[in-house]
Amino acid sequence: MQCDVLVIGGGNAALCAALMAAEAGASVLLLEAAPRQWRGGNSQHTRNLRCMHDAPQDVLVEAYPEEEFWQDLLKVTGGITNEKLARLTIRASSTCRDWMRSHGVHFQPPLSGALHVARTNAFFMGGGKALVNAYYRSAEKLGVQCRYEAPVERIEISGGRFVAAWVGAERITARACVLAAGGFESNRQWLREAWGQNERGEWPADNFLIRGSQFNQGVLLKNLLELGADRIGDPTQAHMVAIDARAPLYDGGICTRIDCVSLGVVVNREAHRFYDEGEDFWPKRYAIWGRLVAQQAGQIAYSIIDAKAIGRFMPPVFPGVRADSLPELAQKLGLDPDTFMQTLNEYNQSCRSGTFDHTQLDDCHTEGLAPAKTHWARPIDTAPFYGYALRPGVTFTYLGLKTDETAAVHFDGHASANLFVAGEMMAGNVLGKGYTAGVGMSIGTAFGRIAGTQAAQAARKEASHANA
Ligand SMILES: Cc1cc2nc3c(=O)[nH]c(=O)nc-3n(C[C@H](O)[C@H](O)[C@H](O)COP(=O)(O)OP(=O)(O)OC[C@H]3O[C@@H](n4cnc5c(N)ncnc54)[C@H](O)[C@@H]3O)c2cc1C
Repeated sequence: MQCDVLVIGGGNAALCAALMAAEAGASVLLLEAAPRQWRGGNSQHTRNLRCMHDAPQDVLVEAYPEEEFWQDLLKVTGGITNEKLARLTIRASSTCRDWMRSHGVHFQPPLSGALHVARTNAFFMGGGKALVNAYYRSAEKLGVQCRYEAPVERIEISGGRFVAAWVGAERITARACVLAAGGFESNRQWLREAWGQNERGEWPADNFLIRGSQFNQGVLLKNLLELGADRIGDPTQAHMVAIDARAPLYDGGICTRIDCVSLGVVVNREAHRFYDEGEDFWPKRYAIWGRLVAQQAGQIAYSIIDAKAIGRFMPPVFPGVRADSLPELAQKLGLDPDTFMQTLNEYNQSCRSGTFDHTQLDDCHTEGLAPAKTHWARPIDTAPFYGYALRPGVTFTYLGLKTDETAAVHFDGHASANLFVAGEMMAGNVLGKGYTAGVGMSIGTAFGRIAGTQAAQAARKEASHANA
């Protein structure tokens, strides 16, 4: 039997869409590519969402008004954002949490070491895994049918309208459809093509690790672009973090992120520093380091700290390489000890230590050093010393489908009447580049909910036409 709304994907955006469509009275079928135990895409790895609020609200302290959120987005994207859709996301983030709670999501204040975001970000109790599980439970209670190991290979459209989706040889029709099947970050071949070869003859993407789900292969994104859907975003733009080089290829999740960059220095394979480690607060800068490491030879770099940094950042899952002296550390990391010591000595001598305060843009900075370290610069001089090899960790890609405030997919500038998109598949409308922590879930929640409501409405219209 044909359902009203077909939701393709099984992460936050898909679940928000399925729940809203079911609440609106639609019959809903959700197709998730992953097996049940791996359901939830990248959303299962998340911890929080960024929320606008004008006054303290349960787990959120102080205020984070619309204008400040907007300015933060404007800054990180360098203006490559659609203001209308960005503001829609921001406003929706101020009202979505009661609805989320009604579907079993619980919130908690951040634990220490969580990127100093107590004011701006609401944390999910039990993380994204608990959120996803709560949404699946609620969806099933509302009668949403969830099918696992059901990767959609392509869809059929006619005149800009959704007609059917194909899973293997099975053709599934529906009155309306929501696409929420993630970006193409897990597709290594596509990443390779997008990043191409660099001036050193390297294929940088071959050294990328994928922080999340292996199921976001971009199959539907490619299919939709081939079908003529309007696109948004640059395929090389993505949320990319520097992660532990020992992380697995997929699903390393949050615990492989290396958060001590601003507390020390970072050197490349030649043992040279290449960027200001203390440019701004870590939540505002962590997402540039994946790309910075991607630009270095061999796509590798090394975060170096001393004993003073210990206890001041979220400890990653693997312990750092430890040494009692800096030359020993260089040797253990496979770096040229002479160059390494020259870099570290120059850095140490250039530190003008003021009053160290990691919660402020403090006055500890370097003088006469290029590149400078503008905050939290203290000599690296206290044993034991630690080093972490870093690789670019791709969180999610920004190439997506162009949409509007109704979450409709567009073909030649025309909004589809019954095909909608949410989450990573359209995040590029808001995020042309850059990132600010927690906004991925704000976008997915806002547009997932809109897409679900719109799809239910479109299905009702379609049903009434059919009965007329
Ligand atoms: C380690 C990590 C930590 C993160 N932390 C945060 C955070 O704290 N806050 C935040 O805001 N964002 C965070 N993000 C980003 C966040 O995960 C995404 O922005 C958000 O989850 C996107 O939701 P989505 O539903 O669009 O995609 P996903 O949750 O990735 O869901 C995509 C779904 O589509 C399915 N799928 C793919 N292809 C097909 C197909 N062909 N057919 C059927 N199903 C298909 C996948 O299996 C998956 O279930 C994090 C990401 C990672 C990897």
